[in-house]
This record gives sequence, C-alpha cells and structure tokens, in this order.
Amino acid sequence: MQERQNLSTPARPVRRGLMGFPSMPVENPEEKWSAAFGSDIDSPCTAYLHIPFCRSRCTFCNFYSGTGTKQEIADYAQLLIREIRDWGPRIRGTVNAVYFGGGSPGILAPGDVRSILSAVRSALPLANDAEITWETRIEDLDDAHLDATLENGVNRFSVGVQTFHTELRRALGRATAKEVILEAFQQTMKYNQAAVTVDLLYGLPGQTPELLADDLETVCRAGISGFSFYRFHVHPGLRLAEQIRAGQMPQVPPEEACFELYRLCTERMTAAGANKISFKHYAFGTRERNLYNAISAWKQPCIPFGLSAAGRLGGFRFKQTSSISDYRDLVLRGEKPVAAAGQMPKDFPVSARIGGELNCQMTLHPGSVLPFVPEPLRKRAAELLKEAAEVQVAKGTMFPEQFGGYRLTERGCFACPAVGSEIMEKFAEAWRK
Ligand code: SF4
Repeated sequence: MQERQNLSTPARPVRRGLMGFPSMPVENPEEKWSAAFGSDIDSPCTAYLHIPFCRSRCTFCNFYSGTGTKQEIADYAQLLIREIRDWGPRIRGTVNAVYFGGGSPGILAPGDVRSILSAVRSALPLANDAEITWETRIEDLDDAHLDATLENGVNRFSVGVQTFHTELRRALGRATAKEVILEAFQQTMKYNQAAVTVDLLYGLPGQTPELLADDLETVCRAGISGFSFYRFHVHPGLRLAEQIRAGQMPQVPPEEACFELYRLCTERMTAAGANKISFKHYAFGTRERNLYNAISAWKQPCIPFGLSAAGRLGGFRFKQTSSISDYRDLVLRGEKPVAAAGQMPKDFPVSARIGGELNCQMTLHPGSVLPFVPEPLRKRAAELLKEAAEVQVAKGTMFPEQFGGYRLTERGCFACPAVGSEIMEKFAEAWRK
C-alpha cells in the first residue's frame, strides 16, 4: 500500500514525519508536473503503480478502493498500459524499484498481469538490479498468477497476512486459514525467483503476547525472506472501529502493551538472527532488499502511474486523479492524469535525510545531514538538531554514540514516527526567520 497522499491546505498544516511532509497546494499542477518531469533525475528513483480494486473490504483497512467488474478491471489494465507506454520512456533517470500496490494487484487477470509487466519492462528505464514488488492477497498466489508475475520480472512479493491466527484473521475479514497461507508460501518459494515478504500487524484487537509470539514463530519457520511489522491503528470510520464500539470485537491493547508486543518481536528476531533493516522491517538471509520502501523512506523521486496514485518529484508531491472518467479521458489524450500538486517546504531535501536515517538505520548522525544545509543556516541547524536529539535522550528514546551521533533505543524504535516528527519539526526552525 502506498503512503497516504497529504496535500495539506494552509488552514490545516500537517507535521513533518517519516510518512510525509506538509506541502502547499499549487494551482497549476500540470505545469509543475511538466517542469519536474522534464528535469534529470540523478538520485535513486521508484515507480508506483496503483491497482484500485479489491475483492472485498477487509474490516481493518483504510486503503479499500472498491470492487470492480471483470470488464472494468480489464479496461483499467489497458488504460494503465497506455499510461506506462506514454510516460515511461520519458523518465529522465533510472528506476531502481517498482511497486504494484492497491487495492489488490492480484485481482488482475493473469493475461493483464503479463501485459502490464511487459509494458513496465519495455517502457521504464529500469536498473539492471531493479526490484519489482507485487503486492498480493494470499488468495491470488495461485499458479496462473505466479507464472504471469515470475515470468515477467517480479522479484518480490509482499503478502498482506496481518496475522496467521485463523480466528483473528477471519474476524478481520480474511478467510484464508494459516495452513493454506503456509502452503501458498511453499509453492511460491519453490520457483526460487523472488523474495516473499509478509505484512504482520501488532496491536490488533484482542492480540495477546501469546498470539503474537505464535505469529513470530511462524514467520521464523515459514522460510520466507522477511516481513514488515506494522502497528495497527483503529481509524474512525473503519468497520472494525464500529465493531469495537459495539462490543463485537475486543479493544486494541493499550500503548504500553503495544510497546511490549514490539519488544517481543525484537527479542524473538534477535534470537532468530534476523536482520533489522528498518524500525519496522526484518530480513532473513540476503534475498529481501526492501528497496522500494528504503528509497521511499529517504523521500527520493517516485513516478506515479494509475488512478489515485501519488508520487514525488522535483520538490513537489503529485496526486493523480481519483475520477475514473477523468483518468480515462486524460490517458486517452496522452496527458499525465495529475490532479493535484503540493510544494514541499524549503527544508524538505535535508529533513528527508533525517527521516530516512531514522527509519532505515535507526540512527541520527548530524555529520551526514548538516553538509546539505545551506551554509548561512548551518550553525543554527546544528544547534537545533543537537537540542532535538538531547530532548529525545532525556525521554529515553535515543542515546548518544560515537562521532557525535545518536541511536534509537528500543522505545525510540517503537515510537520512531513520533520521534522523527519531533526532530524534523525542531530542525526546520532553522529555515524560519
Ligand atoms: S487490505 Fe487490501 S484487499 Fe483488503 S480492503 Fe485493504 S486494500 Fe483492499
């Protein structure tokens, strides 16, 4: 799933954070897109392709896109291919990672999967070692989809498991039993062509340490390449939130219990020798690179494709139209279906480095940030960064380490989004008069 697009209005500022920056909406998004897209990209770059259809609505999910008929999905696939073929060859850089998200890309018919992937591979300037991730529900990891994806360059699957606990999965609207999931992983891994990673959630309603421990044992034994470990938040408006309110589902664990769940994962993965490649991702062995997420964590350019897709380029965030009729008209006219753009704040390129470092390395090294601050602001920025880090040390979320750097404690890793936001907001004061 893609991070939420956040084109804030001046009346509703959004804080800087690991997931995004406040951006000022602009009135001429098409012009901004043309200028940004016409410039060379000299950094790592990703492409995000959105498939806005789901088979059904999962009760816990904030990314539901709506179901579609077979014909609507097939028509959408043709439009997406047209957009890829029109705009892919004009990217002025190298694409290091491609991510198919949704919705649920696995909903596409295998023939459309082949055509879309073929368009991506022929039209996009992919790096030789480009990561191509296919987000999928377990139900769609069938032979036909595996053949279609693996024969056409997919080298990483991201499977939304959430929990292996069959009863809890069913309460969340996921019908597949644990045994079926594990069998699907075995089938996928037999091909020996792609990393298989899963999303696990902690802080689910009624999730006890014992339930989570069982999930962690399962990921250790499943032979998969890695997993993401996301904290579950109940968003108002979700069916699950209503079920909790109505007493049909247990409450989510309180904050301190969630921290204990996070710590349980760290301890189990340390014992398993897993590699912690971000505050919320683990890798077993060497196949899992997590490249798309890592490049995104550093807020490097991202070229959006598809309905409602969001991207980042040239100091702007872009959001493509969410209207299928507008999308169709614009794509058929050969125009990029950008509907909104927001200008990033002046500190964005430097603050993004702080977010990337905290996210992926769980450290903060002023020495790797300050050289990128404009010289007149550097002294003030250095003071603010130290001040912000020392506040975190006092809170127990960071500790100083060698060479003037800081490292997140276990509690700091758990609270990484909040820690990152506080540090970046303080640091950005250097740009204010
Ligand atoms: S979890 Fe995936 S399939 Fe389920 S509603 Fe959300 S986006 Fe759709």
